[in-house]
Formats: sequence, structure tokens, C-alpha cells
Amino acid sequence: MDYAYSLEFKEVIDAEKAYDLYQSKIIKNKRAFECPSENCTAQTTCVNIDRPIQETKKTVHFRAYGEHIDNCPFNIKRTSNTVKMNDSNVENNKISNVHILTERPDDYYIIKQPTIPNVDGDQLKNDRKKDFQRNFNTNSPKKHYWIAPLVTTYINLKENRTILEKTFLKKNEIKIPFTTFFVEINDQNIDNISKYPRIYYGKAFFNKKNSNEIEIKFSSSFCIDKEFKKPALKLDLNSISTYKNYNYWKKRLDEAIESNRPYMFFVYGVPSIIKWNKENKVIKYIRFKTSKLDYMDLRIKVLSKEVK
Ligand SMILES: [Zn+2]
Repeated sequence: MDYAYSLEFKEVIDAEKAYDLYQSKIIKNKRAFECPSENCTAQTTCVNIDRPIQETKKTVHFRAYGEHIDNCPFNIKRTSNTVKMNDSNVENNKISNVHILTERPDDYYIIKQPTIPNVDGDQLKNDRKKDFQRNFNTNSPKKHYWIAPLVTTYINLKENRTILEKTFLKKNEIKIPFTTFFVEINDQNIDNISKYPRIYYGKAFFNKKNSNEIEIKFSSSFCIDKEFKKPALKLDLNSISTYKNYNYWKKRLDEAIESNRPYMFFVYGVPSIIKWNKENKVIKYIRFKTSKLDYMDLRIKVLSKEVK
């Protein structure tokens, strides 16, 4: 199941949001969920909510362990909610293959108060489930607020290029197939890369430069004026400390620094060229300049099977 009613957050949310809220310590109990269908109180758990997204093969998802009511549309054993990502399902639009990357709304982390005063808990729950079911549509694009779920989708589909070509990131009404949205850094000429943001990836090492700065340096290069330059990203820890899920990130980054091993690093953006004069010679660097944690992801496990 992709959706469940959160007894703590008091709304029907998708598993991705449940994960985000859990990592940000806004919800605390992985079992405090219910089937999203009105009148069905099947108890539900959020699988993998308590593990780093990078270490799980399967994405975060909900699993009901209680009994659904008869004819519950979310009883996945009986309905087509379990449609698999295969050619015919993608082709026939049974599941959305369009993803959107957008900013978190301002009230994203806030538990919404009931509009009717003194409404009791069950009433509120049923109203919110009704709202959800009215708007529910499996064909609408999947909204994401950080790139990690896109990276997971990419890694899971990478063996099947046909599906990857039919999986899109939608931006300003343009649909970019995942096969071009994800770019492995691999000696390409910097003049030929897209002017628009893409997710670039490759092996990278994490180094602490000083108490406030981490340098993430790719092991692979872009070609600039016949020279091969390894792009890097400098992350200012002060500027990211206000993130709700900062502690989660801090732990991942510290692990990467201490391990001294390369991680597969993904960053959403456009690489920029920096020129610097040194003893009458122009030295060029390539930098990714984002400081948004939502636009980064690091994975250790994919290295054993290489992302291609
Ligand atoms: Zn149910």
C-alpha cells in the first residue's frame, strides 16, 4: 500500500511523507497507521520507516497487519493496487510513471487542526479519509520533495531500459525520461551537457575540510578544454543545520567521512565552471553549488552492482 491514515499526524499520507515525518521526529510510532479507507480500521505498519532509505532494497511502504472490512478497496490481496511496474502496465497507464520534484509546502510538517471545533477523533479521521478518497487518483504524477525516492526508482529500474525510457520527471510541462534525467559523470565534455538541472552521479569521496565544511569529490571527471576535471561540492554544515531531518543527514555524512570509502553520490543541479587566476595561469574547477540536502543522495550498497 502506498497510503495510510496516520493516527499521529491525523491525515492520510503516502509512505514517503511518513518516512520524512518519522526521520524528522514528528511521528514516532511505525505502527500508528490505519487503512486509508473510510470505516476500515485495519491496523497498518510502515515498513522500513526506521531504516536509512539508502540501505533498503525495497522502498518504504505500508503493510496492513489487521483485517480489512469486506470489499475494502485497499485490501491489496483482492484489488489491482499491486500492479507491477512492467511494460504493459506502464503503457496502459495503470500506474503513474510521471514524477514531479517540487518544494515542500510551508505547512508540510504541521498537523492540521480540524476546521470544525470540538470534532471527536473518529469523526476527524473519517472526514480526512473521505477527503483523501475523493481526491485519490493513481494516475496523477507522484510528487516528491527530495531526490532519494527518484534515485531508488532509477536503481530499481536500471536493468529494464524500456521502462526507464517511459519513466519521466515532469518539469514546466516538459517530460524528461529517466534515461536522460540521470547522468553518470563519465568524461563527457562539459560544453555538451544540459543547461537544465539533471541528477548527476558517480563514485565520490567525502572529506571533512574543517568543522563546518564537507567536501564531496567525484572520482570521475568532466572534460573541459581537453583537461579532465573531477567535479566537487562543498557543503556548509551551518547552512544545512536548520533542516528538520538534519540529524539523519549528519549521521549519513559522518559515516561516509569516517568510512574513507567511495559512495555513489547523486546531486540534482547544473555543474558550474569556476575560473581562478594563479601565477598568470587560469585554473578551472567544476563545482556543484547546491546546499539543499533534498537535492543530494548517497548510497553505499549500489556500488557492489554499479549503477549503469
Ligand atoms: Zn481497508
